[in-house]
Amino acid sequence: MASPCMELSNKMKMPVVGLGTWQAPPGKVGEAVKYAIDIGYRHFDCAHLYRNENEIGNAIQQKIKEGAVKREDLFIVTKLWNTFHERSLVKVACKKSLDALQLDYFDLYLMHFPMGFKAGEELNPVDDKGMSIPSDTDFLDTWEAMEELVDCGLVKAIGVSNFNHEQIERVLNKPGLKYKPVNNQVECHPYLTQEKLIKYCQSKGIAVTAYSPLGSPNRPWAKPEEPRLLDDPKIKEIAASHHKTPAQVLIRFLIQRDMSVVPKSDKPQRIQENIKVFDFELSKKEMDVISSLNRNWRAIAVLQAVNHKDYPFKAEY
Ligand code: NDP
Repeated sequence: MASPCMELSNKMKMPVVGLGTWQAPPGKVGEAVKYAIDIGYRHFDCAHLYRNENEIGNAIQQKIKEGAVKREDLFIVTKLWNTFHERSLVKVACKKSLDALQLDYFDLYLMHFPMGFKAGEELNPVDDKGMSIPSDTDFLDTWEAMEELVDCGLVKAIGVSNFNHEQIERVLNKPGLKYKPVNNQVECHPYLTQEKLIKYCQSKGIAVTAYSPLGSPNRPWAKPEEPRLLDDPKIKEIAASHHKTPAQVLIRFLIQRDMSVVPKSDKPQRIQENIKVFDFELSKKEMDVISSLNRNWRAIAVLQAVNHKDYPFKAEY
C-alpha cells in the first residue's frame, strides 16, 4: 500500500502519509522502519531530539542494500533541534543527523521550533525553576544558515515546525530571503483543527504536515482527565460506518484537508492500518462533524518554554 504524494512549492513530491518516530524506542524503531518500507511507506519523520536516528539509519541502509527501496524513492525528514540555533551550529547539527542516518542528503530539514535554547550537550536546558534557558539567537539568522544547507547540497528543501503565522510572516518578509519554507509541521487533529493557520500556510504555498494526528496518546505528560481522541464517540461512530478504525478516520480527516500526516507506531499491524486510508472518503457532513470537535487543545504545549520570546502558542494562530 503506497501513499500518494503532494507537490511542494519547489516541485518536490512528499508522500502524504509518513511514519512518525518520536518515542519509537531503541530495539524497536529499526524493525518498525524496515516493516514500514516493506509495506510501502517512503516518508519518515525523524529528529535529533528523538535520539533514535542511528537505528533508523541502519534500517534504511539495510533496506537499500537488500534492493527493497532506492534512496531517491525515500523522503527523509529530520529537524534542527533548539540547542543548535546559532549560525555556526546549524551545519554541525545537520551533519550529525546525516551521519546518524547514514545519508548524504535530507529531502527536508525543518527548524523544530522557532525557539533557540542554550547550546550544549543538554537538549532541554532548564533553570532552577524548570523553565527552558533560551539562547540569544534570532530564528531569521538560523533560517539563513539553513538556506546555506540547500546551497551546499546537504538538504533538498527546508521548512519550519511549530511556527505561528506571525513567525512565518517574519521569515517570508526577511530582507534577502533566498528560500521560502516549503513546509510547516504543526500539531493538528480534531481537538486542534488549526483552521486559520492551515489556511494561511496553504495560501502562501507552504504545505502543512500534521503531527500528533491521533492526539499523541502516549505523550509522557498525559493526565488521566485529558481527552482521548481515539476514544471519542463521534470518531468511533464515523469509523464504524465506514468499517474503518478511529485512527484511520483521524488520518483521513487531515488528508482531506490537503495535509500530509505522520502517525507514529512501532507495531506492524498499526503501521499498516495507518497507511490504509486511501480507499474511503469522508463526506462533507462527516468532515464538518469532525471539525466541530475542535476545542483548541494541545497535546504538545511545551509549557516549560512559555516565557521564551519566541514561544509560538500564545498567538491566536
Ligand atoms: P500520534 O498522534 O501519532 O500517536 C502515536 C501513538 O498512538 C502511539 O502511542 C501509538 O502507539 C498509538 N497508535 C498509533 N497508531 C495507532 C492505531 N492505529 N490505533 C491505536 N493507537 C495507535 O503521536 P505523536 O505525538 O507520536 O505524533 C506523530 C509524529 O509526529 C511523531 O512521532 C513525530 O514524528 C511527529 N511529531 C513532531 C513534533 C514536532 O514538534 N514537530 C511534535 C510531536 C510529534 P504504538 O506505537 O504502541 O502503536
